[in-house]
Amino acid sequence: MEKLEMLYEGKAKKVYATADPEKFIVSYKDDATALNGKKKGTIAGKGEINNRMTNYLMQKLEDAGVPTHFVEELNGRETVVKKVTIVPLEVIVRNVAAGSFSKRYGVEEGTVLKAPSLEYSYKCDALDDPLINDYHILAIGLATREELDTIAKYAFAVNEYLKNFLKAYNVDLIDFKLEFGKTSDGTIVLADEISPDTCRFWDSITHEKLDKDRFRRDMGGVEEAYQEMMKRILGE
Ligand code: UDP
Repeated sequence: MEKLEMLYEGKAKKVYATADPEKFIVSYKDDATALNGKKKGTIAGKGEINNRMTNYLMQKLEDAGVPTHFVEELNGRETVVKKVTIVPLEVIVRNVAAGSFSKRYGVEEGTVLKAPSLEYSYKCDALDDPLINDYHILAIGLATREELDTIAKYAFAVNEYLKNFLKAYNVDLIDFKLEFGKTSDGTIVLADEISPDTCRFWDSITHEKLDKDRFRRDMGGVEEAYQEMMKRILGE
């Protein structure tokens, strides 16, 4: 399958049309942004790591009962995915307090939460992706009640699966962001990516950060952290 015209260029990926109207090709970039695009840089090798890690995890999740947009990996950076309309929500699941949760609620980073938490942000750069609740989502019409229930069910299923999967590699799943899409027949599927860009991964023993926080917080060792996650999960 070949790329036709580019339909969309995001911060970390490009999306291309294909000859099949129900399929797109995504191409992962090494570009990195943080603080809603205010901080820019590149992370060498990131595109390939995120593409391969996402595809590997999405295939595992499919087997675990979570439908995804994954179709076929073409090469290191490029993957065929189902054409979906993205539900404009960042779906965030947390097991341990960190980042904006710690700041907003004054809960120290690293505090284990008494129950996994779920929140949504409205994907809108112009508004800086504001936090949004179920009522607001229904009121604006970003999703229906049924779609939101499906999204929440899948988000917690992804959390249970990934948390246990990563434990075997000595990685704690602190939190992560998912995006869902709707196929042409209205089915909700997991889309976007699952990678160190979109998850917080901490080494279970040393609590060393193995994710994009190293870039966001200018901690150094960014490329090494992505490579370490790749090595632990895919063995290379
Ligand atoms: N996240 C993301 N994209 C965003 C915002 C957050 O992938 O635009 C991920 C982030 O990597 C983390 C989780 O969502 O794993 C929760 O992020 P948080 O709300 O704490 O935001 P941050 O502290 O990164 O601003």
